[in-house]
Order: sequence, then C-alpha cells, then structure tokens
Amino acid sequence: MYLKQLDLVNFRNYDLLSLAFEDKVNVLIGENAQGKTNILESIYTLALAKSHRTSNDKELVKWDEDFARIEGVIQKNTQSVPMELVISKKGKKAKVNHLEQSKLSNYVGHFNVVMFAPEDLTIVKGAPQLRRRFLDMEIGQVSPIYLHDMSQYHKILNQRNALLKQMSISRDRDRTFLDILTEQLIDYGSKILMKRFQFLGILQKHAADIHLNISQNLETLKIVYQSSIDVSESMDLTKIVVHYHEKFDKIGSREIDRGVTLIGPHRDDLCFLVNEKDVQVFGSQGQQRTTALSLKLAEIELIHSEIGEYPVLLLDDVLSELDDHRQSHLLGSIQGKVQTFITTTSIDGIEHETLYRSKRFNVKTGMITH
Ligand code: ATP
Ligand code: MG
Repeated sequence: MYLKQLDLVNFRNYDLLSLAFEDKVNVLIGENAQGKTNILESIYTLALAKSHRTSNDKELVKWDEDFARIEGVIQKNTQSVPMELVISKKGKKAKVNHLEQSKLSNYVGHFNVVMFAPEDLTIVKGAPQLRRRFLDMEIGQVSPIYLHDMSQYHKILNQRNALLKQMSISRDRDRTFLDILTEQLIDYGSKILMKRFQFLGILQKHAADIHLNISQNLETLKIVYQSSIDVSESMDLTKIVVHYHEKFDKIGSREIDRGVTLIGPHRDDLCFLVNEKDVQVFGSQGQQRTTALSLKLAEIELIHSEIGEYPVLLLDDVLSELDDHRQSHLLGSIQGKVQTFITTTSIDGIEHETLYRSKRFNVKTGMITH
C-alpha cells in the first residue's frame, strides 16, 4: 500500500498543506525545526490515531487553533481508501471511506506504517514500558481484537488497582469483588499473552534472518519474552489461564498489602539476545543499533505476511546515523517494494540508487516546495 495524497489543516506548524506523493521514495529535506518530522508524525498519526512522540493529542494542534485535521488517500492493491482524523478538545473523530468509526480500534489497521527514528534505540536500551509500547502498537496494527482486549484489560486493571488500594487502606479483607476482577483480568490477560507469543514468533523469525544478514553472518538475534508468570510459547490459552490462577493464589494478600496488581502482561518485558548475550547489558552501540534496525525491518515483513501488502516506511533522520553498510542494507531491502519517506537535513553523503528516482520536497517554516 502507499499514501497517495496527504492534506493537513492546523497540524503542528502547518496551516494548510496538500501534497501528492511518489509510490516509492519521498525525501523531505530541510534545516532543523522546519517541519520535517511533523510531516512523518502526521502520517503516523493518520495510521495509528496516536502520535509516535507524544501522548498528549493537544500538542498536535497548531498553537491558538481549535482543531487539527489529517486526511490521506491510501492506495491498496485493489482499492483506494480515504482516511480522516480530526483532533480537537472534544477528542478524536476518525473516518474510513468517509464513514465515522465509533471505535478507534476499528479505525486503526486500515493504513499500516512502520516508523524508524533515532529514538527507537530506546526499544533496545530503554525501560520495559517502551518495549511493551512497541509490542502493543505493532500488534494493534495487525490485530483489532488485540487493541480491544488491551483496552478492556486496562479498564479492569485500573479498577482492580483502585480496589486494592482501597482495601490496603481500609484493611478490608473481603475478597468477593476482587476475585471477580481477578477472573476478568486473567481472561483478557491470557488472550493478550497468547497474541504476543504468536506475534513474537513471527517477528523473531524475520528479525533473526535480517540481523544475521546485516552483521554479515557474525551475529545471531533472539527475542525472549519475559513474563511475570511461568509460561512458555508452546502453551495454549487454557494452560496460561491456569498458570495465572496459580500465581495469583501464590501471591495471596501481598497485592492488598502493596495496593497494586503485581502480575500480568502490563508487567512483562522483552529481552534481546545477540550471540546469546543480553544486548541491552553487553551489546555495543552498533549491535544495539543493528538490533533496533532488524526489528523494524522485520516488522515490515511481518505486516506483509499478515496483511498481504507492504506497509509504508517512515525514516526520520536515521540514514545519517547509520554506517555505509547498514545504510545500504536498509535502502537495498526496501528498494522498489516499500513506499518510504525519508527526512534529512542534507542529501549529500547518502549514496544509493534507491534515492536517484526519489521525489524531493524542500521543507521550510511549515511550507513545502518541490
Ligand atoms: P529537526 O531537523 O531538528 O528534526 P524538523 O524539521 O524535523 O527538525 P519538526 O519537529 O518537524 O522539525 O518541527 C518543529 C517545528 O514545529 C518547531 O519550529 C516547533 O516550534 C513547531 N511546532 C511544534 N508543535 C507545534 C504546534 N502545535 N503549533 C505550531 N508549531 C509547532
Ligand atoms: Mg525532525
């Protein structure tokens, strides 16, 4: 699939913008702080109804304006799909094919994107919540059910945490309502865990191949899921449910003492092993970068295998960060099959035939010329 047309109103530093894109490579060139990332952010937000760099939607609206609108036309194999997202104080309004979607989980997934930015190194180096966010956003793109289960899970989790806190203060030990919430939490938590295992199984296969290739056969990559309960990828849903029950029984009243839910997918993490060693702890900067790049390229393949079409790739300032070999691997692997948006302050020094046929846009203070 590719983004044919993008129209913005009051998005970040753009008043009004209308752009038509090339189905292969589009390069956005401009000095710092001119609005290059803002364009990629608008494309990402159009796809996922969420920004990649802020959870506060208000920041996306141009200063002193009431709303922002992003419209795009997505060209797929057999059809062209208009999408629209309006962000205002009242929240978000999302349309696919001009029809308003009552749930965002029904909106997300019609347009698939993969973003790769320097911050993505934090997936490897940063806190566990960044890896969980990575998992949730990526699975959500290919599975609306997962998004729905996640939002239910978090509702129940918040309720359960509030109850635990209240019980810990009042020293009330009647578990009737708590047990009901635990049951519901396990129900959704188990489904989430199953889906994560499935997703990681596929991602791992692609990422390992890509990593081996980029490292010129020197490094293996393994992704290990670290769960707060004792489970493995081979278990079925019923077994996972049993394990959650056992663990909740085992921790007994410790949750009431602490006033918080101690186990579940919201506490899990990922570990990346390069040549069998944890790359977060032992990896060099370069190995960590290769790991992040392998994950992103693997995602492209995963979406292709799940959806039957390649997603759109957004590369924010990453080419200059990669050495020649990685740069050339990246550009070689997208060549001709993935619509790609590249931002850069200068095209000099990026030598690859993929760029020769690209469409170039000059970005200056919220205006674009080409
Ligand atoms: P760099 O090369 O440094 O990454 P960039 O071209 O990617 O720069 P962007 O992050 O796209 O820059 O745009 C930053 C500009 O957008 C800044 O000048 C900032 O002041 C402006 N900006 C950000 N949010 C808003 C907003 N809500 N309303 C108006 N302007 C905004
Ligand atoms: Mg930028």
